[in-house]
Amino acid sequence: MTTSVLTASRTAAAAVLRAVLAHGPLARDAIAELTGISPAGVSRQCASLADLGLLSARPAERPLDRRTAGRPRTELDIAAARHAVFGVHIAHEFATVAVLDLRGRVLASERVPHPGGGPEQVLSGAAARLREFRQRHRGRIPVGLGVACGGWVDPDTGVIVEHSSLGWYDVPAGPVLAELSGLPTRVDGHARALASAEAMFGAARGCGSLAQLFVGNVVDAAIVSGGRLYRGPGSAAGTVAHLPLGAPGTRCACGRSGCFEADAAEWAVTARAGRQSIVDVVGAAGAGDPVALDVLLGRARTIGRAAALLFDVVNPEVLVVAEPGIAELPACLAAVRAEVAARSRGRVEAAKRVLPASFPGRDLLGVAAGAVQLDALYADPHALAGRLAG
Ligand SMILES: [Zn+2]
Repeated sequence: MTTSVLTASRTAAAAVLRAVLAHGPLARDAIAELTGISPAGVSRQCASLADLGLLSARPAERPLDRRTAGRPRTELDIAAARHAVFGVHIAHEFATVAVLDLRGRVLASERVPHPGGGPEQVLSGAAARLREFRQRHRGRIPVGLGVACGGWVDPDTGVIVEHSSLGWYDVPAGPVLAELSGLPTRVDGHARALASAEAMFGAARGCGSLAQLFVGNVVDAAIVSGGRLYRGPGSAAGTVAHLPLGAPGTRCACGRSGCFEADAAEWAVTARAGRQSIVDVVGAAGAGDPVALDVLLGRARTIGRAAALLFDVVNPEVLVVAEPGIAELPACLAAVRAEVAARSRGRVEAAKRVLPASFPGRDLLGVAAGAVQLDALYADPHALAGRLAG
């Protein structure tokens, strides 16, 4: 437990809510201890968060101690059954539409393929599926929509500035989806969305700092420091695609060679293994195919070199890698850790702080998208009061 997440929260209400999210259910005195807010202040915040429908009280499971004997002891937890958050994740070949509860659990999710579709077709297809999801979950109050996409995304304008593998430039995905869905919409880059999800609901819960690496068709990173995502001017932080970490001869679309993305991207890995998809490569490696395993281990070592650099530059409490080989095969995670141990200043200690993604493969993209909207809720719950009442 670190206090940096809590002290960085914009409001006392957010501090209380984040403490319950990370460690709940919690009694009021435990919340006071975690947040440094006075017991009277905690009681006030809990009452107002309960009024918003975000916290619920229940009798404590732990036995009464002498101090509180005679007084019923209650604990507070996130009220997860009342609201819904929607998510749209845009990937190279499909969009994922999802509905989540306030604990970031995916209640339903579906893939909408978009082979060769342009932005208008992709966004209207996702919006049509969203309308069905809203209808199916109409018992819950909709808080809003989160949209996540690889490449360079500007959350201030909701514009996908550049997604090279889709060939999208300056696509106003946020305004378009807000219009089509009728939901308040927030957009962010895929790696930042994943980092946010890990910090709220995953293995990095309660950590003040986190580095996230995503390796798919796009290769991206994100940094959480002091409990907040670091974006930098124009939200351009986190570009690691062209770090010179790959095999020197590998040509990259940027015109140089040896770039991280050109070496480790999904399309490059599947071609090297002679398979149709990354799922096939991981499946074959798991079944003992030496070529597939060798290709994935090579990818893991390249990722490990990137992870070692991130440890040296950022020194995060944890570094989460979202990559299917590392998620499925212990040898791939070990290969990443070995590179970090060999190359970073933190050595073996840093290597232990490398973790695979916390969410199962089928939920990962939906959680990332929903987290873009949930991040706003957990940063300042009262700012969303109008929506929470339904
Ligand atoms: Zn490049």
